[in-house]
Amino acid sequence: MPQSQLGNTRAIVTGASSGIGEGIARAFASAGAAVIVNYRSDERAAVRIVGEIRETGGRAEAVQADVSKPEDCGKLFDEADRLFDGTDIAVANAGIQRDAAFTELSLDDWRKVIDVNLTGQFLCAQEAVRRFRRQGLDTKRSPALGKIIFTSSVHQTIPWAGHANYATAKGGVKLLMETMAQELACEKIRVNAIAPGAIRTAINRDAWEDETARKKLLTLIPYGRIGETEDVAEAAVWLASDASDYVVGTTLFVDGGMMLYPSFREGG
Ligand code: NAD
Repeated sequence: MPQSQLGNTRAIVTGASSGIGEGIARAFASAGAAVIVNYRSDERAAVRIVGEIRETGGRAEAVQADVSKPEDCGKLFDEADRLFDGTDIAVANAGIQRDAAFTELSLDDWRKVIDVNLTGQFLCAQEAVRRFRRQGLDTKRSPALGKIIFTSSVHQTIPWAGHANYATAKGGVKLLMETMAQELACEKIRVNAIAPGAIRTAINRDAWEDETARKKLLTLIPYGRIGETEDVAEAAVWLASDASDYVVGTTLFVDGGMMLYPSFREGG
């Protein structure tokens, strides 16, 4: 029997009561990890996901925390200690959008997006590093002291009119991830990011729900389909597993080729 990819590991996934985080939590549990399904407000969804994971023989617990608050990030890891006796993998995934044309973007919406998408990921990652150090290296478990995966976006690279707050936060996540990876690799902490393209979730419903918007979106995706949460989740399992032990400070784009400047296919 092949060894499960994440057997004997404990993971926290933030923003896991929907979308990509939910997909990652489910895939981690199927791969053998015990998973903290973090939610901010949708307790019912988190409890349902946990129930479904358990029905298939997986281990999961729902934990409420607002990742933009340092004390909540601490609580998230305290709960992982209490329930699973530690954390090996942290996925900083929670994110929001508050879109507006540049001059219409309110300071409140600027701050909200930066607070969750950049500061929230920083707080979660900082707490993870402190906990990994406290736990210490156990090479019987893994060659790594711990693994951190950020959910970034193709908009860490592609500018995005009408979304200055979001693109700024994701650009920040890119250098946060790379700086952490450079600083912490010597401690055997692996820090990487996944940058999804257009994935069918609630955050971008306007872009795929009606036919006209969907067709327009597809012109940006060489591979000719919108991504599903499973596409991102499978990449996350690999990045969290020891199969990717030599992958450090990398952004793995899961985007159907969106980063390939598809408008340059004809002419340019
Ligand atoms: P989603 O809205 O389904 O998921 C976002 C999750 O984050 C939700 O469950 C939400 O409750 C949670 N959340 C928001 N604020 C939080 C907070 N303060 N504390 C804890 N949780 C909080 O959308 P999604 O597409 O699954 O987004 C997940 C991540 O993927 C985000 O970081 C997003 O920017 C990124 N992303 C998504 C796409 C896409 O096409 N869907 C593309 C690129 C990047």
